[in-house]
Amino acid sequence: MTTATPPQAHPARPAPAAKRVLLASPRGWCAGVDRAVAAVEKALELYGAPVYVRHEIVHNKYVVQTLERKGAIFVEQTEEVPEGSIVVLSAHGVAPTVHAEAAERKLATIDATCPLVTKVHKEAIRYANQDYDILLIGHEGHEEVIGTCGEAPDRITLVDGPVDAANVEVRDESKVVWLSQTTLSVDETMETVDALKTRFPNLLSPPSDDICYATQNRQIAVKKLAEDAQLVIVVGSRNSSNSQRMVEAALGAGADTAYLVDCADEIDEAWLQDVTTVGLTSGASAPEVLVDGVLEWLVKRGYSDVETVKTADESVTFSLPKELRRNLRTQPGNDPTAGQP
Ligand code: SF4
Repeated sequence: MTTATPPQAHPARPAPAAKRVLLASPRGWCAGVDRAVAAVEKALELYGAPVYVRHEIVHNKYVVQTLERKGAIFVEQTEEVPEGSIVVLSAHGVAPTVHAEAAERKLATIDATCPLVTKVHKEAIRYANQDYDILLIGHEGHEEVIGTCGEAPDRITLVDGPVDAANVEVRDESKVVWLSQTTLSVDETMETVDALKTRFPNLLSPPSDDICYATQNRQIAVKKLAEDAQLVIVVGSRNSSNSQRMVEAALGAGADTAYLVDCADEIDEAWLQDVTTVGLTSGASAPEVLVDGVLEWLVKRGYSDVETVKTADESVTFSLPKELRRNLRTQPGNDPTAGQP
């Protein structure tokens, strides 16, 4: 999906002298994506192809195709994985039923769920055990939301925006907590929370932000670009929630147009008409090589002045999933079932 609004003049924006690109920092791969992709690569290295991956390991077409070429087989359902095989679970997390299905099929499971998604799962379990009604703000049908809801299906109700907030029902208004998907728009989520608070004044907030550091940082950075760029290009796939939210954030912050593209091939030259400043960034699942491609494309069209706009430093890293760490320690045996939890 491409999102755009019709071009309009920005009243406060002085015209810059030359064509230029503002490059967001931070942008691109986050710690959770880095870990998930490394998990598939390491599994292929340790056990050889094929390694099955349940759902796209991260929501990026290029990443998925690259791993397929190396021997990964992507499936949507656990039952598609042959019994006894190795399966990597994607960064978005899964419901406990998926772990049970995998155990039933005697699969050697490597869980690449991002630790920041696992944190939300743990919060859901804790509040469910305390008999709270949990209002999970998120997008219906998103893999992460399906996984989190699966932790406590009788206690969690999905709230997909302020309209849902107006209609949601709870058992006891004094015992309600909200949690959220990790990759939402910060501003929209707070609108939904405000709507919920109007209905449930005792609504409890999560102990710390559920929207992850990478999502927040990329939204702040793209908003900064949008103050000066007429056109913002976000590199990312259409099914990437955080990338979609970055396009919306750019438009909301004043960019005349904003587009989501998988790679340079998807850019339309017509977008550049009357544009002197292009903002360029990428979603948390988009590899830097694709940003390089877009940059090269822009430089060829005269946008050779490239300026980095830095809004935060990131130093978060996550270690590989425990099943891989364990097997790396027990090399050279490399018995895949040794990694099964
Ligand atoms: Fe984890 Fe956030 Fe990256 Fe998702 S976007 S993988 S929650 S760090």
